[in-house]
Amino acid sequence: MAVETAKALLVFLGLAIFAAWVFINPFWGIAIFSFSAVICFIMAWAASDYSIAAQIFLFVAMALAGYYLRSEVYAQKRVAAVSTEEIQKNLNILREGLFSHRGVREALKKKINRFFKLRELMNVLSLKFEAVDIANATSEAAFEIIGKADSCYFYTVDTEKQALALAGAKYKKADDRIKNKTGDIFDHWTFKQRQALFIEDVRKDFRFDMDRGSETINNFKSLISTPLIIDEKVAGSIRLNSLRPNAFLADDLRLLDIIAGLASVSLDNSFLYTRTMELAIRDSLTGVYVHKFFKDRLVEEVARCLRGSYNASVLLLDIDFFKAYNDKYGHSAGDMVLKKVAAILTQFVHDSGDMVARYGGEEFALILANKTKSEAVDFAEGIRKAVEAETFLLRREETKVTISVGIATCQDDAKICQDLIKAADNALYKAKKAGRNCVAVK
Ligand code: GH3
Ligand code: MG
Ligand code: MG
Repeated sequence: MAVETAKALLVFLGLAIFAAWVFINPFWGIAIFSFSAVICFIMAWAASDYSIAAQIFLFVAMALAGYYLRSEVYAQKRVAAVSTEEIQKNLNILREGLFSHRGVREALKKKINRFFKLRELMNVLSLKFEAVDIANATSEAAFEIIGKADSCYFYTVDTEKQALALAGAKYKKADDRIKNKTGDIFDHWTFKQRQALFIEDVRKDFRFDMDRGSETINNFKSLISTPLIIDEKVAGSIRLNSLRPNAFLADDLRLLDIIAGLASVSLDNSFLYTRTMELAIRDSLTGVYVHKFFKDRLVEEVARCLRGSYNASVLLLDIDFFKAYNDKYGHSAGDMVLKKVAAILTQFVHDSGDMVARYGGEEFALILANKTKSEAVDFAEGIRKAVEAETFLLRREETKVTISVGIATCQDDAKICQDLIKAADNALYKAKKAGRNCVAVK
């Protein structure tokens, strides 16, 4: 081989060292460098031209250049990798931030929505005066605002029986309609403990004996319930039920508590309204209806009689010799008699449509709906005898009073209100003339 060819081959090997070092890896750089050095020495020896061996310096230069370039490229690559990693990390942080912001935004949106619905409920409740309307509006709102329940029950307290009574409800399905209208063990617990109740799973709650209560709870697995408090007394309770266990959160109970607060205020107003209405139509001494209310009812009753060809009787009652009673025993003794006579009359009047009112000083008026004249006479006789039999005890002295009763019947005696009252008054005058303590008809 000519020396020139050998030198050209060695230049090529030098380029191969450079390329291996830069583009493959240091192992191949060293391997090709070693191989080229061996070839170089063999060629020098074969050509007996040791100047060829000087080519080894070219190899070293190429290897160094390759090594330098490689480390530069890799240093830049490392910097780029670190930057990419950093950017990725920042990107992840930003993404997390975005998600948490989205969560906060959603939660905020939900809260604002709930706030608007609470305000809407407040507006609706401000227009309700009946406990049943308040109960239904509140049940519907609680069901919708909290939104996880299968049913909602609203109870009010029957103050006479000191028991709960279902006043309103909202159901997802008609099957969830409650059969027991006086509450179950959970409602009684809320009522007695005056505390909110949060049950994640009814079967696992050690406070309740499910063998006793199971038939009343319609397979509910979880519930929240809170009492309605007015003037520190329990006025009712509101409860949400779910067929799933763990359906509610503590936050839901807090919200139910706010709804119960709004309902309590509204219920209190409705009680006040009812009491005011009662005061306007009830006589303060005797508790029976006032003259005006009696007249309004009589107008309705007469119209009803004429529409359907029914009978309705009016009774006017007057206590006999009441002036003398007052003079003998005093005015407050007379008041006591009026109260007692009113109580006797109220006991007699229990059919639907019947009513008793204080007509004047010691006079009372009764409407007997759907009673013929002879039925009204029997009824009046019963009252007369009951008053006659009553003993009024005054400072250990037993006193007695009697009444006279006049009866007129629509449509036999009159077909308009004024005439009917006039007819009853005439009958009463007849009873007085007949000697008092008796019943007379027109
Ligand atoms: P008569 O058998 O004819 O009805 O005789 P009387 O004395 O009952 O007759 P009169 O209607 O003249 O008297 C009614 C009396 O009723 C007069 C009044 O002193 C009394 N009176 C009216 N309102 C009240 C009241 O609110 N309380 C009391 N204690 N007495 C009343
Ligand atoms: Mg009188
Ligand atoms: Mg009288």
